[in-house]
Parts: sequence; structure tokens; C-alpha cells
Amino acid sequence: MDHDEQWDSAGAVIREDREIRLLLNTDQATEAGARFDASLAAMPADIDRWSRAAVLMGRAVTAWRLRRIPLALELAAEGWTDIDAEHPSGSRAALAMGLLGYLLTGIGHRRAAMTMMRLAVHAARDAGDEAELAIALQRLAGTINFEALDGPAGEAGPMFAESRELLAEGLTLNSQEQTRRGLLGAYAASLVGCGDLEAGEKAAKETLEAGLSSGDRWSTAVGHWVLSSIRRQQGSLVEARTFASNAVRDAELINDVSLLTRFSADLAEICAELTDFAGEATALRRNVAARQAAMATMQEGLGQALEQRRLAIQAQRLATAAQEAAVRDPLTGLTNRLGLEHAAPEVLADAAARGCTAWLVLIDIDWFKEINDDAGHAAGDSALREIAELLRNECRPVDLAARWAGDEFIILLVGENDLGLAVAERVRAAVNRHDWRSRLGAARRPTVSIGVASGSGSLEHLFAAADTALYLAKRNGRNRVERPDLDQAMSPPR
Ligand code: GH3
Ligand code: MG
Repeated sequence: MDHDEQWDSAGAVIREDREIRLLLNTDQATEAGARFDASLAAMPADIDRWSRAAVLMGRAVTAWRLRRIPLALELAAEGWTDIDAEHPSGSRAALAMGLLGYLLTGIGHRRAAMTMMRLAVHAARDAGDEAELAIALQRLAGTINFEALDGPAGEAGPMFAESRELLAEGLTLNSQEQTRRGLLGAYAASLVGCGDLEAGEKAAKETLEAGLSSGDRWSTAVGHWVLSSIRRQQGSLVEARTFASNAVRDAELINDVSLLTRFSADLAEICAELTDFAGEATALRRNVAARQAAMATMQEGLGQALEQRRLAIQAQRLATAAQEAAVRDPLTGLTNRLGLEHAAPEVLADAAARGCTAWLVLIDIDWFKEINDDAGHAAGDSALREIAELLRNECRPVDLAARWAGDEFIILLVGENDLGLAVAERVRAAVNRHDWRSRLGAARRPTVSIGVASGSGSLEHLFAAADTALYLAKRNGRNRVERPDLDQAMSPPR
């Protein structure tokens, strides 16, 4: 896939996502939900990191707006990981970071949100992408405006001045209609914040008209609200109340909790100033209802997140159990061949690094076929379990005891002097003196033959040497321990 195709496939997904959010701004939540579900299936393959991050963050924001909190968080965490991994550059980086900033605002993580949004502005400016820069500026300036409104009145001036500059720049850029409406609405609020009521009113009316002609409730809500605060400052409280109540209605229609809580609080204050206590009570009720709805959504989201986390832990435990089962012999509970092969390299490397000797003790049961034939396969199984237990008893917890195959066992251990030979002899003696009558009755009692090898080679090398020694032990009469010496090293394998 060449770069342009990648760009296109990610671009198509990003555009679809934007359209879905536009549906949410125009009271079409049901259709938005259905289209979102359909879109989730398609993740373009082999796209670059920033396109992927942009797709993930776009979906996270849409999921958030659809009140699917755990999904939103999951997508955002994945997208954020991509964002953190590389130096941001290009339009897709700007888009991804801007969306993350938007989501962080929704969560109430304003400071991190602002940092991300500033980075998005830089990336879009560096990329020379006017449309993306316009969006990034709108997001950043809108958030600054909210910060200014929420903070101490004395600190609001410079903040509104900054947002006004950013928005003025945004309005000079080539951008989509929706972005332009957003810029204009926020610009109106900034102007009013800076005390320029006349220019603010002009911008607010433009926002309102653009919102009305496109059916964009966000713009009509903001337009009405800015006009309401202008009238309030001018002392025209009745008109202010009408605008504010329109703003509340519009925000309710698009279920924008952050606008709704702010506008309904303002409406309540205006009503109180008018001594319209019924109006004030209604506005406060709507304010409380909006907050409660937001709280209920969050609580439901927490419930869902808990459930998902629980299922994830369950799945993780099952996976761990399956991994453990894969390296364990079910009959004896010892490590199996695969487990030994996985663990051996580290044991051997560690022994070599410490200048210690590694020992491989290879144990094979004598006449085991006969025992199976005489006492039955089940008794044979039980004897294998018993021998595994005897073997465990003769090992230290740090030694690796494994069932290699059939009636063959291996102990891999590290230690000086003749440790391996000593352990082998202890194992042989333990099996030899064990009372087998309860398990095997009159059948032939098992003994073990053992080959021992030591050295600094690989598992394969040690095994080959021990196998040669085991062959000797069998040939020399069984129930004995052998180790290879120089003469017998040339003996043919079993
Ligand atoms: P040798 O002294 O030469 O080792 O004679 P042997 O009869 O033990 O011969 P060998 O080691 O070649 O055969 C191992 C036998 O172990 C063959 C197979 O029937 C039996 N065996 C392998 N796995 C199992 C098992 O899981 N359960 C039981 N009951 N028997 C097994
Ligand atoms: Mg055998």
C-alpha cells in the first residue's frame, strides 16, 4: 500500500467519524449510534502511527458523546499511547492531539487538555494545514474561554484576549462551515469577555444565523447564550432571559451537558434578578437535572468499566493458566519437556556467568514396559507419579525437575563438587528402597538407571552426554548411576 492510499483509507474513516459527530450536533443521536457501530468494524490496515492515533481518538470522542464511557476510555488510552510514542508532526498528529484534548476537557482534566490542544495548534501550524489549524484554534480558544468564565473574574481579561487573538486568526483561514461556526461562536464569547459588546453582538448574531440555516444546535445555543450575556450586561434582563432560555433549550436538544449546566445556571441568575422566582426554580431544576444526568452517565460508565475490567482479569487468568498448563506434565505435575527447554538456557547461562558447574541428571525407569504389562497401565501411571514425588524429595526448590518423555525424567541443577552425582545416587537409592507393594502388588518393582553429565554446554550437549552415560548404566546392569568418561564418550547412542 503506498502512502497516498494509506492517507485515503484513514481519511475516509476520519471523515465518517466527523459526519457521525455532526449528526449528534443536529439531534440525530439514534442514527449516529447506528453508524458508529457500523464504522467500528473498519480499521484500515497498515496505516501510519499518527493516522491510527487520529482514527482512535476520533472514535473515542464519538463514543464519549454517545455516552459509551468505557469504550471511549479504552479507545482514548490506545490512541494516547500512540500519541506519546513519537514527536508530533503533521496534520494527523494535530488532529489526534486536538481530539484527545477535547476528550480530556470532557473528563474534567482541563490542564492536560490545554497542553494537548496547544501542541495540536503547533503541529497544525507547522504542517501548514489551514483546515486542521482552524479546528485546533477553535478547540484551544473555546477551552480558554471556559477556563476564563470558571476562574476568578480578575484573571479572565488576559485569557479572553488570548482566545480572541487565536479565534481571529482561525477566522482568516480556509475551513469547513462547521469549524467556522464554532470559531465564530467562540469569537463572539471572547469579544464579550473583552468588553467589546458591539462586535460581540455582531459575531453572536452571525453565529445564530449560521446555526439556524444549517440546523446546528451547538451554534444556535452559543449564539443565544452570548446574546443573553450581552443583554444582561446592558441591563435588558427580559431580553436576556429569552435568549438564555433559548440557549438552554438548544443545549438540551443536543444533550450537551457542559453547555447546559452553564446556560441553565445563568438563566437562573437572570430570573432571580428579575424576581421571576418560578423561572429561577425551573432553570435550577434543569441545571440539577443536567448534572444528575451527567452523574448517572458517569456512574453507569463506571459500572461498565468495572465489569469490563473484571472480564479482562478473568481472561488474563485463564491465559496465564493455559500458559502454565502448556509447560506442565499433567500426570506428575512436573515441568514438561517444553518447560525445561524454555527454562534451561537461563539456568545454564547463569551458571556459566557465576563460574558454577551445571549438571544434567537423566533418569530412565528400568523394565517399565514389563511393569505396565504386569500391573496394568493405571498402576504404571501411579508408579510414574510416585517416582516423580521421590525425585522432588531429592531436589532443592531451585533445581529443575522435569518429565522429559514416557519413563524418562531430568533434573537440571547447578552446584560444585559432585553434586549431580550425589543427587543421582540419592534418587536411585530412594527408588530402590521404596515400598512398591501397595501400588504394584506382585509385579516387578521399578528401579532407575541414571546418566549424569556436567559442563558448560547447551542443554542439547549435556543431554547427549547424559544419554550416553544412561546407555552405559543400562548396559552395565541397570539400577545404577553412570557418567561419561573419555573412553566411553565414543560409545554409540542407545
Ligand atoms: P528399559 O529398562 O530399557 O528402559 O526398559 P523399558 O521397558 O523401561 O523400556 P523403555 O524405557 O523404552 O519404555 C518406556 C515405556 O514406558 C514404554 C511405554 O509403554 C511406557 N510409558 C510411557 N509413557 C507412559 C505413561 O504415561 N504411562 C504409563 N503407564 N506408561 C508409559
Ligand atoms: Mg525405561
